[in-house]
Amino acid sequence: MPWPPRYDPAYVPPREAEHWDRRLETMAPADRDTVVLEKIQGQVRYAWEHSGFYREFWQDAPVDPANIRSLDEFAQLPILTKEEVRREQEEHPPYGRFLCVPPEQVYRIHGTSGTTGRPTVFGISRGDWERIGEAHARILWAAGIRPGDTVMVAAVFSLYVGSWGALVGAERLGAACFPFGAGAPGQTERAVEWAQMVKPAALYATPSYALYLAETAREMGVDPRADFAFRLMFFSGEPGASVPATRQAIEDAFGCYVVDQGSMAEMTPWMTNGGCRHLERGMHLWQDIVYTQLVDPDTHEPVPMGGEGVPVYTHLERESQPMIRYWSGDIARWEMVDCPCGRTYPTLPLGIYGRADDMLIIRGQNVFPSRIEDVLRGLDEFGGEFRLVVERERGYLDRLTVQTEVDSAVWAAAGEGGPRGLDALRSQWADTLRRALGVGVSVELKPEGEFERTQFKARRVIDLRQ
Ligand SMILES: [Zn+2]
Repeated sequence: MPWPPRYDPAYVPPREAEHWDRRLETMAPADRDTVVLEKIQGQVRYAWEHSGFYREFWQDAPVDPANIRSLDEFAQLPILTKEEVRREQEEHPPYGRFLCVPPEQVYRIHGTSGTTGRPTVFGISRGDWERIGEAHARILWAAGIRPGDTVMVAAVFSLYVGSWGALVGAERLGAACFPFGAGAPGQTERAVEWAQMVKPAALYATPSYALYLAETAREMGVDPRADFAFRLMFFSGEPGASVPATRQAIEDAFGCYVVDQGSMAEMTPWMTNGGCRHLERGMHLWQDIVYTQLVDPDTHEPVPMGGEGVPVYTHLERESQPMIRYWSGDIARWEMVDCPCGRTYPTLPLGIYGRADDMLIIRGQNVFPSRIEDVLRGLDEFGGEFRLVVERERGYLDRLTVQTEVDSAVWAAAGEGGPRGLDALRSQWADTLRRALGVGVSVELKPEGEFERTQFKARRVIDLRQ
């Protein structure tokens, strides 16, 4: 098998086909392991031969990178972290010695925003960009997008690779691409007008932004169900699309179905964690494009199916800046799920429900912000946004306050008393949260509109601990 693989740029399956590549997507898991191993051999040997970084990084590995004989052997290569990538890029700017192709063959430059430390740079070759398009087309096909559908990308077009990845996949598939963007003043109101006029079939955004779009539409007297024509929405960047109450809120608001997607920008094609149109929640792991293993957060030992761990990702067809055994820092559970689509990939049935970094430990209990979001969005009187404030209490115990908006009609009905008129509601919500989280939290009620709506990834945790 040649590595990296070559794809026919003109290929598109028949419209009614469930799969883009039926053989690869439905093969027996043991046969897939053979396909994956062959690609790993090609990818690892290539990185060993072309990357000064991996030459050094694997120097003392217990296995021969030029000849990986099994997936077990592969799992003995060291795990690569974001910190190591940053350090390497600092020492050898801009790409580090990951690039593997001459710098003049870089076709696209993307990166992380660097809000939490030095930004990370991604140099992507033309061949890789085309393969990213191919992979995303294949996965968007599974999501239910077909040639001729209009795909509206309502996310920032910048360094952030998410929007571009959605666009290049939709382009390759033969959809009409509508790169609307986000983030400029007044742009959400314009999105409402344009979505009414163009009537796209699909939307890519963050889950928070989809809810904000629905809210903005209603304020403008536009009914998101009747006046738009969204059939599906696909999301990345936040866990919301696999948070049941958030997913439901979006599906109800637009009368569409929701598909959860997304691994990490570093791992583009990031859609290889990607649901299909049948999956009610969670994401399939498209193992023959990016190979994912779940490992124990402390020991880094592989986690068996059914267990919880940190996804560790490996590119299988990247000639520029391949990431091999890249530590995500996310938390997920994996299972073999019998999905009506017939795909035989492992599945993250709850999606990625937390980052190991985001997990709050409150009085010894692990609390994921996504769980709190699920509870709040399931409450009838919820006002749409919330913040989580973590403080240190008496120097050693952590205290969590959930500041949550209340629906404007309920708030108004409480009258002049303001939040005091809502005391019963507040204690009822505190009870519900305590039962769901297994730990007591304080609840503060705020009027609807108190918190800023985001056009990008919502930042809802305010950590005041020293
Ligand atoms: Zn499926």
